[in-house]
Amino acid sequence: MAKVLIIGAGGVGSVVAHKCALNADVFTDIMLASRTLSKCDKIAAEIREMHGVEIKTAKVDADVVAEMVMLIKQFQPVLVINVALPYQDLPIMDACLETRTHYMDTANYEPKEVAKFEYSWQWAYQERFKEAGIMALLGCGFDPGATQVFTAYAAKHHFDEMHYLDIVDCNAGNHGKAFATNFNPEINIREITQPGRYWENGEWIEIEPMSIHKPISYPEIGPKESYVLYHEELESLVKNFPTLKRARFWMTFGQAYITHLQVLENVGMTSIKPIRFQGIDIVPLEFLKAVLPAPDTLGENYTGQTSIGCQIKGIKDGQEKTYFIWNNCDHAETYKEVRGQAVSYTTGVPAMIGAMLMLKGVWMQPGVWNCEQLDPDPFIEQMNKQGLPVQDQVNEPLSVEGE
Ligand code: NDP
Repeated sequence: MAKVLIIGAGGVGSVVAHKCALNADVFTDIMLASRTLSKCDKIAAEIREMHGVEIKTAKVDADVVAEMVMLIKQFQPVLVINVALPYQDLPIMDACLETRTHYMDTANYEPKEVAKFEYSWQWAYQERFKEAGIMALLGCGFDPGATQVFTAYAAKHHFDEMHYLDIVDCNAGNHGKAFATNFNPEINIREITQPGRYWENGEWIEIEPMSIHKPISYPEIGPKESYVLYHEELESLVKNFPTLKRARFWMTFGQAYITHLQVLENVGMTSIKPIRFQGIDIVPLEFLKAVLPAPDTLGENYTGQTSIGCQIKGIKDGQEKTYFIWNNCDHAETYKEVRGQAVSYTTGVPAMIGAMLMLKGVWMQPGVWNCEQLDPDPFIEQMNKQGLPVQDQVNEPLSVEGE
């Protein structure tokens, strides 16, 4: 019997709850909690109607450690799956330490007042988690998450030495809205308006936001303009695979998206500095989030596919080799299965798989871990079973190589 507590009832939280319910042999008792109980109840009703499974719901403010501790003591889960926002990572880890409960999330910690994310804050829990005999699995969505599993799989089965890594993330879907973000707008906009960064010859190269771009041809999709961004899994990947001479992350954006974003930036709407408005302090980006469509409302008429993968170049048996491993996922198909669009689905399914591997003991070990530090094979096997089929090809490079 494995009780799990899911924190966060947005686009990703909903997919995690649906997929855990669909794997009721592992997840025998599920509770979904966020600050707004009605969001949790709506998802619970959908799960009852679609899959005939009952899940529990609760109201909690995960920023408040004492509230989290109280909820954990009441429900007594084995594992807390944190799919709220990055701001909640540390308070939830503190509550897990206090109650000796395993922890996992899909995004690394970010302080609310500074648009900056890095693993140092969470890696600092390593000794305390080890001593308490509990595990924290960090960043187990798609990217971060599956992309690190892909890289670890390449290292295990395809290379003696890996030299170049390109993570390529394409959303070729159409939700029919003029402007919307596919996951939490505040976190998404904070991420892409920061300077870009990539790893080359032992150091980070910083670039102007969105200043390096080129068309990359994605499987079943074709060429899409792709931009170099800094993405959190690069930090742990270059640490865990020190032979990498270069590691970059590319993401596609349509011209309409970029134009909207530029205008919003130019008029100050993406700022996280509070301004005085009608006698109260408001943060422009938080206000913008309130007027944009929520990620969990985009699914219904979403068409097209996502394609996310890793291309690695290196040496095997003295020969140069290129290996590309990826998944394509269809927005309309995921909506049919769990009422969620493919960006939420490609995050929520790996989170469920990580939780499953922890609970089955396959990935369970005390301490704080990133996904590439664990055996990739059982994860890939589950991706193929759980709706994210993995494909790969050898020595057929993507166009990123042609620079
Ligand atoms: P949403 O904005 O749709 O949902 C966030 C949820 O968190 C809401 O239900 C919100 O509900 C809840 N929440 C916010 N603050 C608190 C709090 N203090 N206590 C309890 N619950 C809280 O975001 P998404 O579902 O799109 O994204 C969720 C997470 O997934 C984010 O951290 C995002 O960065 C990550 N992500 C990871 C990806 C990956 O591939 N690794 C890709 C996409 C997203 P309420 O306000 O009612 O509390």
